[in-house]
Amino acid sequence: SRANIGVVGLAVMGSNLARNLAGRPGNTVAIYNRSADKTHHLATAHPEAEFVTADTVEEFAQSLSTPRTAIIMVQAGPATDQVISQLADVFEPGDIIVDGGNAHFTDTIRREAELAARGLNFVGAGISGGEEGALNGPSIMPGGSAEAWNTLGPILESIAAVADGEPCVTHVGTDGAGHFVKMIHNGIEYADMQLIAEAYDLLRHAAGLSPQEIADVFRQWNTGVLESYLIDITAEVLGHVDATTGSPLVDVIVDQAGSKGTGVWTVQSAVGLGVPVTGIAEAVFARAISSSGASRRAGGGLPGPTPTDGKSGSAIGDAQGFIDMVEQALYASKIVAYSQGFDAISEAASEYNWSIDRGEIARIWRAGCIIRAQFLDRITEAYREQPELPLLLAAPYFHSALDDAQTPWRKVIQAGVETGIATPAFSSSLAYYDQIRRERLPACLIQGQRDFFGAHTYKRVDAEGAFHTDWSADRSESRVD
Ligand code: NDP
Repeated sequence: SRANIGVVGLAVMGSNLARNLAGRPGNTVAIYNRSADKTHHLATAHPEAEFVTADTVEEFAQSLSTPRTAIIMVQAGPATDQVISQLADVFEPGDIIVDGGNAHFTDTIRREAELAARGLNFVGAGISGGEEGALNGPSIMPGGSAEAWNTLGPILESIAAVADGEPCVTHVGTDGAGHFVKMIHNGIEYADMQLIAEAYDLLRHAAGLSPQEIADVFRQWNTGVLESYLIDITAEVLGHVDATTGSPLVDVIVDQAGSKGTGVWTVQSAVGLGVPVTGIAEAVFARAISSSGASRRAGGGLPGPTPTDGKSGSAIGDAQGFIDMVEQALYASKIVAYSQGFDAISEAASEYNWSIDRGEIARIWRAGCIIRAQFLDRITEAYREQPELPLLLAAPYFHSALDDAQTPWRKVIQAGVETGIATPAFSSSLAYYDQIRRERLPACLIQGQRDFFGAHTYKRVDAEGAFHTDWSADRSESRVD
């Protein structure tokens, strides 16, 4: 038993994670893959890693010191269940099985309970950062028991990305908490990308800027409050010229967005929890609209203003003024999307009995993952100052940022409405904002309607209890509780 950590599943993610682990002092890494050729190929290609190879799951178990710790990186779903079951048969009580794949958090809750009944520790760990992150330092979101974290923590800390000298990993919470938080990370990533795409659309088709000019705008933005990985890569993509046609690459890419499903999971879970994640939902729906070929073809001739082609001038007088307003609108909408994501985390924590430190979540997203951004420092600070903060938007820093952004946010959305450029994520973020700050909402009328057709009752602002109006007779009111 020479290895202190093992990796099962040696496709891109597993191989890179195994190499990352092997490169850290103190680690000896056992590797195992269903098809043994991948195991030997990895060991041969990277002799410096000094991997301990195993051809069978039994050999793999024997090569690990106890308590055994193994990270699974295989396809999510049935494949993960098969691998867990094989490891559970050869592991012993106290050993730790980590699933680093993109599991649904409810599968993780189920698996943790099943393995706990057999005395095994199961940890669902969200790992973000793609292939490059896995190799050089991902952001890691582990759930599972505190006991498992004691053994696993130092190993994960050794391979995680580092921000301000701190590793981007923390014990998120018990059982499925880690995979839930990873799912919300991906949902926020959808919202962030959609907001950036809307900003591009406005600059291109309302302000009439070229992709090269917009790339420069994004480079400029990346030195301010919006500084982030996604803004950075957006500038790279917009600045890239297609070698075949000489056109900006963005003009030859088919405008139908794909997805692997974690955005849908986020929205489904949030709907179940009753948390409005409107920014994420609009982002998921916008991808669906982009890919709805037949509807888009049928909708093609519908009346309305036609956005400029982005080559023949501008619908906006003061281009630089507009660019600055779009920056503010993007920032304000982004604050709303993150606030909503953190609301989903709070609600799930209370539903599933997880103790989640939201400041720690923002902290571990500062490096290694796709949504890494300067702005996460502000979120960490907000939760450190006020751990029970009920609404991220209302923290003093964000309150003030939203105050500054008011006029530009509204004007940019107006410009979209007038020019026929849809801004679903900008607009839904503002709609959420205007509802959450409103003293009275028209929900009073909805309660009246519900009482009318279904006797669902309503509460009064001036009295305790539930009331019903006898709508079909004399319209007298009675207290019904
Ligand atoms: P894949 O998701 O493509 O999975 C391939 C691996 O799964 C191979 O090692 C394969 O073994 C193994 N496998 C599949 N079915 C079985 C089975 N029934 N029994 C045993 N092993 C099986 O690999 P990736 O590296 O892309 O991703 C691994 C995990 O990490 C996934 O859950 C993914 O969602 C997640 N992830 C991926 C990211 C990415 O950027 N790709 C980012 C973050 C997470 P064999 O070689 O024998 O076929």
